[in-house]
Amino acid sequence: MIPERVKELGQELYPKLDKLTKDLYDNPELADEEYFASNSHCDLLREYGFTVEENFCGKATGFRAVYDTNKPGLNAAFLAEYDALPGIGHGCGHNILGAVSSGAGIILKHLIGETGGKVTVLGTPAEESNGAKPHYIENGVFDGIDLVLMAHPADAWYLSGSSQALIPLQFEFFGKSAHAASAPEMGQNALDAGVITYTAVNALKGHIARTSSVAGVILEGGKAPNIVPDYCLMRYYVRSADRTYNVKLAERIKDCAKAGASATGTYLEITKFEPEFINLLTNETLSGVYKATALEEFGLDISAKRSFGSGDIGNVSHVCPTINPYFDISGGEPCPGHSTEKAFQSVTDYAYEQAHKAALLLALTAFKCMSGPALYKAVRDEFEKSRII
Ligand SMILES: [Zn+2]
Ligand SMILES: [Zn+2]
Repeated sequence: MIPERVKELGQELYPKLDKLTKDLYDNPELADEEYFASNSHCDLLREYGFTVEENFCGKATGFRAVYDTNKPGLNAAFLAEYDALPGIGHGCGHNILGAVSSGAGIILKHLIGETGGKVTVLGTPAEESNGAKPHYIENGVFDGIDLVLMAHPADAWYLSGSSQALIPLQFEFFGKSAHAASAPEMGQNALDAGVITYTAVNALKGHIARTSSVAGVILEGGKAPNIVPDYCLMRYYVRSADRTYNVKLAERIKDCAKAGASATGTYLEITKFEPEFINLLTNETLSGVYKATALEEFGLDISAKRSFGSGDIGNVSHVCPTINPYFDISGGEPCPGHSTEKAFQSVTDYAYEQAHKAALLLALTAFKCMSGPALYKAVRDEFEKSRII
């Protein structure tokens, strides 16, 4: 049952969340430039008694907001994304996603007075590009956080599911330029190395798991036809349902590039051009609490669909028990993600109403774990068994 004080809080809080969603929709900011968005979240969280650190962990538009009851207990974290897309604005709905996370933090703060523990809201910028979450993980930001919850807007309600592991590989071939007609024997052709790699990877693609995909481009491959290209730049996304398999697959893609370098006598440099994303490991125990709460509180049956895709919350799920369910903002009119229609759907009355439910559900799910040691033990045991890092 939703406590009376939370219902009263909602009357005052929900219009503020709607305003935050609309303000960000009106002022979309790209990855790592989300100053207005980050400030807006921090102002709201401060208003509700959170201690806020801006410019957090080397991310100018990141933040950490904490409310501590100063009594022993668990630390639950909600992750707020708020970056927009070039030319599309909030086509991924991160304006409403962030409002749900900050809203969930504020609601949970009002529930844990007697239970004890802490609530953390983490501002995680740049989800659409280099992703702040892997950087936070490397810097120990998730140490001491016991569970992580985030809900993404979508075309229906989905339970937390899975996402693909992603390895972003970059190949650079360094050859030797020479006149293509008068002195070709003096050259080492870097473009040839790239083309051999591309062809070898295409051959390999016929023999990989159906749950994997490989996509690549040649970004640079010479300047003029009468000069032997001395440099070639290629980038690949290697995706698989399972991270262990994906690491092995990436090694085989690297072998293709080594073959290209070896055949042409060029020098190969292999790097990752973005952080690696790991597949989302849904904590099924935590997800079960979310599902049951949705049914109990709102009569909402969300057992039919499971979330998918690939994002940096997958990495978080391997260091903390995590769920990433989706909530509906479409009102029965699905439209593609990363579109202007999707951005518009985030600022309708229907979307606001669903966002209020999502915030409440995230907060209640966390609260049940924080106030039920046996339940949290089950969440933790499952996590320890299934994590891979
Ligand atoms: Zn997106
Ligand atoms: Zn998104």
